[in-house]
Amino acid sequence: MLDVLRRIVQEVNEARSLEAALATVVRRVRKAMHTDVCSIYLFDPMRERLVLKDTIGLRTQSIGLVALCLGEGLVGLVAEREETLNLEDAPAHSHFRYFKETGEERFSSFLGVPIIHQRRMLGVLVVQQQEKRRYDEGDEAFLITMAAQLAGVLAHAIATGALNQPTRADGMAMFKGIAASPGIVIGEALVIAPLADLDSVPDLIPTNTESEIRRLREAIDRVRGEMRRTGERLANRISVQELALFDAYEQMLADAALGQEVEKRILEGQWAPGALADVVRRHVHYLERVDDDYLRERSADIRDLGRRILTHLQEESPRTINTIPPHCILVADEISVTMLGEVPREKLAGLVSISGSSTSHVAILARAMGIPTVLGMVDLPLQRLNGAPMILDGHRGRLFVRPDTELISHYQEQIAEERALAETLEHEQHLPSETPDGHAMALMVNTGLTLDAVAQLKPRIAGVGLYRTEMPFMITERFPSEQEQERLYREQLKGFAPLPVTMRTLDIGGDKDLPYFPIQEANPFLGWRGVRVTLDHPEVLIVQLRAMLRASVGYDNLHILLPMITNVDEVDAALRLLERAQVELGEEGLAIATPRVGVMLEVPATLYQLDALAARVDFFSVGSNDLTQYLLAVDRNNPRVAELYDACHPAVLAALVRLAKEAEQLEMPTSVCGELASDPGGALLLMGMGFKVLSMNAPSLPKVRAAIRRVSLAQARTLVEEVLSLPTLMAVRGHLMMRFEEWGLAHLLPPKDYQK
Ligand code: PEP
Ligand code: MG
Repeated sequence: MLDVLRRIVQEVNEARSLEAALATVVRRVRKAMHTDVCSIYLFDPMRERLVLKDTIGLRTQSIGLVALCLGEGLVGLVAEREETLNLEDAPAHSHFRYFKETGEERFSSFLGVPIIHQRRMLGVLVVQQQEKRRYDEGDEAFLITMAAQLAGVLAHAIATGALNQPTRADGMAMFKGIAASPGIVIGEALVIAPLADLDSVPDLIPTNTESEIRRLREAIDRVRGEMRRTGERLANRISVQELALFDAYEQMLADAALGQEVEKRILEGQWAPGALADVVRRHVHYLERVDDDYLRERSADIRDLGRRILTHLQEESPRTINTIPPHCILVADEISVTMLGEVPREKLAGLVSISGSSTSHVAILARAMGIPTVLGMVDLPLQRLNGAPMILDGHRGRLFVRPDTELISHYQEQIAEERALAETLEHEQHLPSETPDGHAMALMVNTGLTLDAVAQLKPRIAGVGLYRTEMPFMITERFPSEQEQERLYREQLKGFAPLPVTMRTLDIGGDKDLPYFPIQEANPFLGWRGVRVTLDHPEVLIVQLRAMLRASVGYDNLHILLPMITNVDEVDAALRLLERAQVELGEEGLAIATPRVGVMLEVPATLYQLDALAARVDFFSVGSNDLTQYLLAVDRNNPRVAELYDACHPAVLAALVRLAKEAEQLEMPTSVCGELASDPGGALLLMGMGFKVLSMNAPSLPKVRAAIRRVSLAQARTLVEEVLSLPTLMAVRGHLMMRFEEWGLAHLLPPKDYQK
């Protein structure tokens, strides 16, 4: 059964349209369950009707015509209750409703299960049988499992379906994701597909079919050459059977069939990579369904060959700067720091990806760079987006593909309003970040990659509260040497001197991978991360500490911060290494003053050992991003649980209040450098709790400063008291919005949803 399930889901997954996906479902389920009818109804939220979308067994004329309200008929009942209904004698049920166009009167037995994706009812999957049949437990379990597995695939296909007919008047499609970096852009999609991934090749209409065919032939020739050479190389080392595989590969390539099929597809209007992907998928599809183990295994060979040809095709079509659109919205399955480098900054207008969430590190980087970003767009049909005009709304986490003129003009107005607000706020950026009742808040910035705007920024801030050293490590091809690091760190220390610069030691692991130091773990956020890695690799940490110390000579503004501290002995071990680095440099003739050292408070355990930590270090820095993740047990990077992740959860706020109080009693300077500090609502709450230093991405400074300059410390303290009495996150967010409206500051919070 498992095998059947897996194959059906895979087939549905590979379908090129919603219609094809539904056809596959009904056909395959009916066969697998040996039953007379299988139908699928999808819920149309606009009409609030369940519409029969496909069937095998009922009259096909009824497809699209039968439309039920929730609660109407047996199907409506399944949808309304979101529960399975299994009836041997369906017409006897009080809810039974007869639709004559379906020819349903012939069927006695009924089994219907709801299709639910992320709490949303998408539709109902039904099987029916002419004679009385009690669908047994196994049937029920099969259909429930099928529906559960199909839900995600269908949600994706429904979203994709909207894009299948771009020429329709309503060809616009809207996708929801997680707002990761604020701002709105109107631009054009540039899809970056991972190399040699047949499933994410975009569809493109070729500008010159002849040259596409030429490209294809050359790529096939190259793969043939490779195969021949590999076969020859391995001739003495592998068995005759294994060697035969290379002959088989060569034959597949020599046999004009594959190439000819791809060429035919090109002539039909696909570019070479898209045509290749289509043809390979079709073959794989076919081979995977045949009941012959040998042939099924050949499907892997076809895929492999396809990937090899694709690699050559992709090598052939490098993106040139000229082909990148001027307002480019980069779209990918997963956006890496290196990908950001592929598009010149002046052309990079926005970022969209299927994976990731608001505090994933690409989001943090995007905010620092001021690039509107939406992540976690799980239903995005990557293949169909390249070159599409789109509006990206980084405030609300929305992407509109092929927007209509009404929507474009609505967003153009919003962009103009935002620009006007930014200009107004700009006027007060040189003023102190002080409340109307005279309470000063120190505002600092978080940095990572080089900032061009240091000179402009310096008079407006109290220093760098967090320099994420792993960022520069992520764009190199090996660990940077001590000299390279020294140069990098000096640039920061010198640039911001005499202001303090807080350099965090390498914080890799979690979602921050170094290409040259991959960490594969089942639970990366609970695994080898931050100081746990660097203490296990003292040779890496000591080089970094030496580079920081060297770079600080002459500036004396270096603060060192240790990430992911969980245990006091980790602090001791790191301090010993720091001392060693200092002694070594002393022996080399460099007398360097001991920098101030702090720990990140981001693992909940540290909140219970503040005194022991305070006895060892000079300052604390609260990493609210990870603290939230670990307190709420919500992966900060997982779009599925993104709605549960919010630092304004009452429990997180309560923990922060306690932390602020205890840190004050311990007289420990304590800043907050997580994203909560860059949200004007969060910043006021932190101020009311007693934190005096906030560190944030540079683009957030104007709004946070504006909020601080308009709300007194007394008001902020009351705000904290008020939210502490609220039991839910929704209530806290609602209350913040209400107070901001009352203070006339609603424009500083993210705008509400735009309902068209
Ligand atoms: C944090 O966890 O809040 C933090 C500032 O560090 P990072 O986001 O880099 O993990
Ligand atoms: Mg952290």
